[in-house]
Amino acid sequence: MIKVRWTGAAGLEFITDQDVFLIDPYLSRLGKFQMFFQRVSANTDVIEEYLENLPSKPSGIVISHTHADHALDIPFIAQNSKCQIVGSKSLDSLLKMHGLLNRVIVCESDNGHEPIELGDNVSVVMIPSVHGKAIFGRVPFPGEIDPNETLPMKASGYRHGAVFISKIKIDDITFMHLGSADYIESQLDGHTCDVLFICVPDWKKKSGYTSRLIDIVQPEVIVLFHFDDFSRVISKTGRTPILPFQDISGFIGEIKKHTPKVKIILPEINTDLGNELF
Ligand SMILES: [Zn+2]
Repeated sequence: MIKVRWTGAAGLEFITDQDVFLIDPYLSRLGKFQMFFQRVSANTDVIEEYLENLPSKPSGIVISHTHADHALDIPFIAQNSKCQIVGSKSLDSLLKMHGLLNRVIVCESDNGHEPIELGDNVSVVMIPSVHGKAIFGRVPFPGEIDPNETLPMKASGYRHGAVFISKIKIDDITFMHLGSADYIESQLDGHTCDVLFICVPDWKKKSGYTSRLIDIVQPEVIVLFHFDDFSRVISKTGRTPILPFQDISGFIGEIKKHTPKVKIILPEINTDLGNELF
């Protein structure tokens, strides 16, 4: 049985009988003032507590792109585990800046379609993608992370680098992770999944965002995510703080109109979705 949790922002956690796999773990949840005006550092106490509560150290971590809400925590997590890390050249630069050499299986925009083994019956395919137009119709912080930057960087130093949709296969179940609201149709050709995790913010900025995607990847279950206000801390019992102006019900309506039979899940952060998914 696989346990699956959304851990906030674009973070996913998969726990199998033997292993733990993570995508885009971002536990620090720094406040808005720090994100916009200060240099940013991972909240190591929060990450340590998170790692201690896992049944084992992560065996594999996948990073979709290197914006701070996807990659800020990864150097500290990498220092505390020996696992395989899959991501972009920018991610490799970021880890090297932290003294972590040769830790990343680097995927480029043109070599992303080969499956990478992460463990027994677990593999990931990195599908080249593009970032959504998240701020005033523009892609925030484009380009590569500059390895000559001084640490700690401002959030703006966390350039997105190459952007990927990851397709992770665990046993016979295929999960697709869309961590930003855009994609390249031709790159998705031939890629289907059982469970699609779909980024909600900015869904209106790409015409046909849901319909074309669903037609191509044909999911049985769609899980909405990345709609939380990740500048707010999650209390142990608290509900997910939601970003304003997302029109989540409109988004669900779009999906239902196009694909009435698909199962749609609007999850709470840190809730095991296993029973709902399988
Ligand atoms: Zn981003």
